[in-house]
Amino acid sequence: MYGYRCEYCDGTVQERTVEREAFKHRDGFVILEDVPVGVCDMCGYRYYHSTLLHRVQEIAAKKSLARMEQVPVARFA
Ligand SMILES: [Zn+2]
Repeated sequence: MYGYRCEYCDGTVQERTVEREAFKHRDGFVILEDVPVGVCDMCGYRYYHSTLLHRVQEIAAKKSLARMEQVPVARFA
């Protein structure tokens, strides 16, 4: 899925499975769990494979939700 050269430095984008990652889409956020993201081994820039973004769109359209979680929101000051 990854393994290509970073766009911003000479590092290599390595696949790393993260417990949860928040993705922004047009109407809000989707959190994916156990998701394989690409992380540059030099600068740490994160890459998202197109299948991940596809999945986010699918979930945003409420086709395959596992569950809903409430996220607390507050103003800082
Ligand atoms: Zn990099």
